[in-house]
Order: sequence, then C-alpha cells, then structure tokens
Amino acid sequence: QAKAAGRNTYRVHDPDSDAASAAAGLLKAEMERAMKRGGFLLNYQPIIDLATGGIAGFEALLRWRHPRRGNIAPSEFIPLAEQSGLIVPLGAWVLKEACRAAASWPDPLRVAVNVSAIQFQQTGMEETVLHALTASGLAPHRLELEITETMLMQKTETVCRAMESLRRLGVRIALDDFGTGYSSLSYLHQFSFDTIKIDRSFVAGMADQKTAAITRAIVALGTGFGARVIAEGVETEEHLAFVRAAGCTDVQGFLFDPPLPAPEITRLIESGRLRLAA
Ligand code: C2E
Ligand code: MG
Ligand code: MG
Ligand code: MG
Repeated sequence: QAKAAGRNTYRVHDPDSDAASAAAGLLKAEMERAMKRGGFLLNYQPIIDLATGGIAGFEALLRWRHPRRGNIAPSEFIPLAEQSGLIVPLGAWVLKEACRAAASWPDPLRVAVNVSAIQFQQTGMEETVLHALTASGLAPHRLELEITETMLMQKTETVCRAMESLRRLGVRIALDDFGTGYSSLSYLHQFSFDTIKIDRSFVAGMADQKTAAITRAIVALGTGFGARVIAEGVETEEHLAFVRAAGCTDVQGFLFDPPLPAPEITRLIESGRLRLAA
C-alpha cells in the first residue's frame, strides 16, 4: 500500500482514518440496502403564506429509519450519500416520491424538494425531474427545487443548462439557506429565483441589531426581484412578528408545524387549512 503511493512519499498508517472510512463504507452499504427495502421516507413541512394564513405547499424532508439506530438525521447521511455518489439514485427516488405525494394534494399546493449539487452536475438531471413529473402527473409549476449557494459555487455549463431548461418547463427554483454561503448577492444577480429561503440563523439571531438589519435588507432584495421570500425556522410569535415586519411572504417552522409523515398531511389537507388560490 505504502509503496503504491510512490517512491518518495510516505503513507503513515492512520488507524483513526481507517476506522472512519470503514464506518463510512458500512453506512454506504446500509444506505444501499435501505433504498431497496423502503428504509427511507419523506416527511413534509407546511409552508404558510402570510397574506392569507393558508398553507401554500410543503417541503419534502428525507428521513432514514435505521433498523438498529432509529431515525438518522439528514445532516448525518446526506454528506455521506454525496461523497459516495449514492445521492444520485437516492435523490431520484426523493423526486419521484415527492411528486407522487404532491399529485394527490389539491392543486395548486406545491412540493419543494432539496437537491444536491452532485445531482445537478450529473447529465440527465432534467430527464430525472421530467420522469418524476410524468410518472406522477404533477404539473411542473407545482414542483420547486431547492438548491444551495454551495451548488452555485460549482456552477458549470451542465448545471446552468439544467437549471434553465427546467425553468422553461415551468419548474420553480428556490435558493435555500440564503445568506449562509459566500458572495450571495452575485447569485441573485445571475439567476432569477422564484423563491428565496432565508436561513434560520437570521431568524434565530433577530435580537442582534446587525443581524436584524441584514435580514430586512435581504428580504427587501428578494421581494424587489419579485421572488417569494420564505423565513425558515420560525419558532416563536416574536420570530413571526419580526419576519412579517421584514416583509417575508411565507414562513416555515415549529411555531406552525414540524415536518410531518404523509398520512398526517392528508389529514391536514382535509381539515381545510389551505391557501387554495394560486
Ligand atoms: P433545509 O433544506 O434547510 O431544511 C430545513 C431544516 O430545518 C429541516 O431539517 C427542518 O426539519 C428544520 N426545521 C424546520 N422548522 C424548524 C424550526 O422551526 N426550528 C428548527 N430548529 N429547525 C427547523 P432536517 O429535516 O433535519 O434537514 C436538514 C437538511 O438536510 C435540510 O436543510 C437539507 O439541506 C437536507 N435535506 C433534507 N432532505 C433532503 C433531501 O431529500 N435531499 C437533499 N439533498 N438534502 C436534504
Ligand atoms: Mg430546504
Ligand atoms: Mg433551508
Ligand atoms: Mg437551513
């Protein structure tokens, strides 16, 4: 092994990194098995339109029910799925499943799906999205793809072409976790997003004057571009009053609803808490 690394280089045996990569390999194998056996599921978190107080749509959030370790959070397995490339088939499953669920909801309720940079860098992303739409019968304008600034940092020809062609189809594009990456403003200039999601760290930090001023400024910027601006992580009445005053069009957070399993979404829809105008 050390020899293969080259004549003039040493490879010090590092038991820690060996253990870490073995654990990562095991987790990857377990993820592959979970994909085959229905170990992943989607929860849906309501997005509330502040103008009407009704639900405008839902964000699909991935959950892994591990047979021994219980539910594993996406922050633990998404990075691994990205490193191993498994995010491509897993992300395709998420798209298909989310579109299938949304097709059963009344029009014009939307579904927002998180997509990784790796998915967009793959040629065939357009086909994957199109397939999810045609298989479910969901109208393209009811699907919103949430991308992050990290993805735009690796903005290649493939990524741009896919984003533009999906847009032409009528699929909506949201910029997620806005304000947490680098050179956020230049992205707003280069591409017109349908939705901008203000990261929850801004909402949580509202008591700080500078944070509050930045939040108000980015909300004004987003609405000025004609985008919907969603505040993430609204947990208290104070948060709500703040983001409403800042001019956010929509909110999402534990003050309203946590991410919920699909059967509960059906019950919620039947309760009539919806904004049914487009
Ligand atoms: P995100 O897209 O920014 O999703 C919002 C996260 O905030 C979710 O965490 C949600 O459960 C949480 N949240 C919602 N309301 C509140 C609140 O009031 N307070 C607090 N503290 N948190 C709130 P979750 O479900 O753990 O997902 C974490 C991240 O994992 C997501 O962040 C997204 O980046 C990623 N993710 C989730 N599902 C997928 C997926 O299907 N594909 C990809 N590529 N990434 C996903
Ligand atoms: Mg998101
Ligand atoms: Mg977010
Ligand atoms: Mg976030």
